[in-house]
Amino acid sequence: MYPSLEGKVVVITGGATGIGKAMAERFGAEKAKVVINYFKEEQELNALIKAIEDSGGSASAIQGDVTQEKDIKGMINHAVKTFGSLDIMVNNAGIENEVPSEDLSLTDWNKVISTNLTGQFLGCREAIDYMLDHDIKGSIINMSSVHQKIPWPHFVHYAASKGGVKLMTETLALEFAPHGIRVNCIAPGAIDTPINKEKFDDPELKKGVVELIPMGYIGKPEEIAACAVWLASSEASYVTGLTLFADGGMTQYPGFQAGKG
Ligand code: NAD
Repeated sequence: MYPSLEGKVVVITGGATGIGKAMAERFGAEKAKVVINYFKEEQELNALIKAIEDSGGSASAIQGDVTQEKDIKGMINHAVKTFGSLDIMVNNAGIENEVPSEDLSLTDWNKVISTNLTGQFLGCREAIDYMLDHDIKGSIINMSSVHQKIPWPHFVHYAASKGGVKLMTETLALEFAPHGIRVNCIAPGAIDTPINKEKFDDPELKKGVVELIPMGYIGKPEEIAACAVWLASSEASYVTGLTLFADGGMTQYPGFQAGKG
């Protein structure tokens, strides 16, 4: 547990499902005040808010599309109006779709880039603007992926977006370090969430993914949430510009395991 998170106000984009939901629950258990941005999952929210309140935190939900400036501004205004401040911004919302690159439409390219990269930029910009104005030494966490490092054929737009998140995070970390605002990102490997449902429902496809993971299992959303609360806490007070890989070793060249190579 991280006592420094008690009472802190955190906004989580895409917070109703998967990793975002696990982070909302974990920040709640740390007794933070959690604003859950959701896109289309209204029916999931009452149970999530109740779980957070039962564990000692506070929670409030707001609908919004991270590609829209006004919606991002709305999330931060909602946090300030409901809980009085903004201390932690988690830019988590993301999408992916598989298309061979020669067939990838401009529409699909733009959709993934505007959600995964531009959406995270807008979240960073608005949070930093608020933190500067109110002299808050806040923490920003962006959600990258092992695909900021590992090339991913048929997902060129996704890989490009996550590569962009890496350098955006490092650049903002450098720019705002003098103000005490820390900017980091988490790069998960394969995690059991709705984004992977189709793949992990197919035993053969799932086996193919597990073979790429030296630790031998698909990660749980809670294992990513554990990284987020540490990064946001005062235990990480000297950490900025970091990509925290949480991937069961996937980025450690699994093809070379057991003396191969
Ligand atoms: P998920 O599909 O459960 O979560 C994505 C969330 O983003 C959903 O709640 C969705 O509604 C929301 N969202 C999508 N478009 C949005 C928009 N325009 N505005 C607001 N919200 C929007 O999947 P997840 O695995 O929990 O993904 C969360 C993040 O983790 C994503 O950025 C994803 O790229 C990243 N990630 C996931 C994995 C994995 O294996 N699950 C691995 C690496 C990185």
